[in-house]
Amino acid sequence: MRVNTSRPRSSTALLCALALLTASFATGQQPQTPATSKTRIVLLGTGTPAPLPDRSGPATAIVVDDTAYLVDFGPGVVRRASAAFSDKDIKGLEPTKLRVAFVTHLHSDHTVGYPDFIFTPWTVGRRTPLEVYGPKGLKAMTGHLLEAYRVDIETRTNPDGNQRGFPEGHQVNAHEIGPGVIYKDANVTVTAFATKHAMESYGYRFDTADRSVVISGDTNPTQATIDACRGCDVLIHEALTPAWLTTRPDSFQQFAGKYHTTTAELAELARKAKPRLLILYHYASMSSEDLFDEMLARYAGHFVIGRDFDVY
Ligand SMILES: [Zn+2]
Ligand SMILES: [Zn+2]
Repeated sequence: MRVNTSRPRSSTALLCALALLTASFATGQQPQTPATSKTRIVLLGTGTPAPLPDRSGPATAIVVDDTAYLVDFGPGVVRRASAAFSDKDIKGLEPTKLRVAFVTHLHSDHTVGYPDFIFTPWTVGRRTPLEVYGPKGLKAMTGHLLEAYRVDIETRTNPDGNQRGFPEGHQVNAHEIGPGVIYKDANVTVTAFATKHAMESYGYRFDTADRSVVISGDTNPTQATIDACRGCDVLIHEALTPAWLTTRPDSFQQFAGKYHTTTAELAELARKAKPRLLILYHYASMSSEDLFDEMLARYAGHFVIGRDFDVY
């Protein structure tokens, strides 16, 4: 059983890893994907705006067989996908196969990797346009990015350019969405639900042949998240601990009170949503112990603290 992939750097971290393992056994938790499952969740980036080297910017892949669907593209997204492809043999994350993404909201920590997602896979061979779904403002952001990289696009597609044979690989079909079913193909149906953040924002539910997965994005606790899950297989949700919050300026504490979720609020939400597995991501805490102890004290269900490159 693998609880997380982080490398303990101290006895404290090791104790925490052992505590996680013990708790997993105690609750009968099975964090890894069942062997028969076709659908895997790959945590490409569990971070926040803080540029922590072990936690890349927010990006999550739902992979069905060999097709990947991204949720958010924080900084580092393509290199994280490439590493998951090469180190974990997740074929859907080979960079040229990245084609479809869903954006929870347009904050920079969730979108700084957008030009990386557009251009990097193209330079190594992607031939088909991208399909990207998200809130209002996505089309303008897309248009501005393509304009910002106009010199790059022109020089790669002119008669001297090495991508002139496949000039569509950087193109983007940007879809501005509302709540409801927003995407469907042979692998997956994706339903958006409105969340409560500082701007228009959405969470997403993925229904595949074998699993239901709900991801919150950044949000205050919402009934919509509970309704979207309702006993879902996996709920991936953000969290902040009270101890960490007290170290922040008053202005951020007020902001977080309206637009983020504390561990106490997440425990209450999860008791109502009843996911089979709760994965914490986009979390901020004083330490791993702080976050783990907070949740363990408040929530009796199965949960794990997500780490970059975890596969569930
Ligand atoms: Zn964020
Ligand atoms: Zn945000």
